[in-house]
Amino acid sequence: MRVAVLRERRGGETRVAATPETVKKLLALGCTAAVETGAGLASGYPDVLYAEAGAEIAPDVGAALANAGLVLKVRAPLGTGEGEVDELALIPRGAILVGTLAATRAMAEVYAQLGIEACSMELLPRITRAQSMDVLSSQANLAGYRAVVEAAGAFDRGFPMLMTAAGTIPAANVFIMGAGVAGLQAIATARRLGGRVSATDVRPAAKEEIKSLGASFVGYEDEESKAAQTAGGYAKQLSADFYAKQAEVVAGHIAKQDIVVTTALVQGRKAPTLVTEAMVASMKPGSVIVDIASDAGGNVAATVPGEAITTANGVKILGYRNWPGRIAGAASALYARNLLTFLTTFWDKDAKRPVLKEEDDIVKGVQLTRGGAVVHASLPAA
Ligand code: NAD
Repeated sequence: MRVAVLRERRGGETRVAATPETVKKLLALGCTAAVETGAGLASGYPDVLYAEAGAEIAPDVGAALANAGLVLKVRAPLGTGEGEVDELALIPRGAILVGTLAATRAMAEVYAQLGIEACSMELLPRITRAQSMDVLSSQANLAGYRAVVEAAGAFDRGFPMLMTAAGTIPAANVFIMGAGVAGLQAIATARRLGGRVSATDVRPAAKEEIKSLGASFVGYEDEESKAAQTAGGYAKQLSADFYAKQAEVVAGHIAKQDIVVTTALVQGRKAPTLVTEAMVASMKPGSVIVDIASDAGGNVAATVPGEAITTANGVKILGYRNWPGRIAGAASALYARNLLTFLTTFWDKDAKRPVLKEEDDIVKGVQLTRGGAVVHASLPAA
């Protein structure tokens, strides 16, 4: 089976879906591999490393996709009129496409018409067996780390208490909002840098996890929040009344913070607004807010998605998009391993290709199309 690894073309994406390490492993399974020239460059993997791993370097996307049976991507391939080249039209019928495709029902119908067997990895069920293929977790983990490092870079003081002959600089107060995968890594990173760290979340289980990392818990709890977690481990959408009470509790706390990192998401919805304009106005000049949720609309009312801004009262708000892409080397390495684990889990040694069993829970979760039909039950319409 021929594997194609493409250069990402959407929205300044810096990551790549296969690294020289994972290419080598795919070749060991009996595949051949074509890597489009420059595919790994923005992640620190130049063509020469793929060639050393045994891949053919394809001069363009068409050459990379010729005869491909498996296409590895970070983001969805470009379709008609979406950019410099129609990547979808170049994918051979019957090829398996694996990426974070963020597909709507309409997009899945296009894949089906083109005979592409599409799998969207962000739909993976969060079950123990799938942990090593969980692209959302691997990427969120790095995003949480990177957010704190960038906050430290933008902050004009320091995280630890600094005692010098010229006087003492106090430790930074750091508040992490949302303590899922990204938030827990942000807590751990801010603690390692010496900050005084507190955190909040709505899921009851998060409270103990926050404390176990040495941070203090700040938050509002009531009967509603006791049931705030879905069976899949995600936060539920809660009532306007709950969010108002939560805001009341955190407002006074935010006014005393030097750094706020927001990571809160509610699956399938716009991210909840947790930091209002009034809360930002209450913060000291020089404070930094990092909004990792900016791709989902942001947790901070004043966030400008994709940009770093400074408010009239001197608070910096970093609303960059694609936080994993800001640490692209490591993010690509983990993403590529996630995909490799997914493929090897379903690898048929005799056929030398993955055989995606439709009754498997993981396949049910990620597979969008099979045999020219849309098979996924719950895709958004548009
Ligand atoms: P996520 O990215 O969907 O959300 C980030 C965090 O924001 C969550 O902790 C959520 O509770 C929180 N949040 C939502 N609304 C909030 C609000 N109003 N105020 C404060 N916080 C709010 O979540 P995630 O990081 O993907 O992880 C969610 C859960 O799933 C965690 O418990 C995690 O450990 C679990 N998980 C399990 C597996 C597995 O078993 N395979 C894999 C990954 C994650």
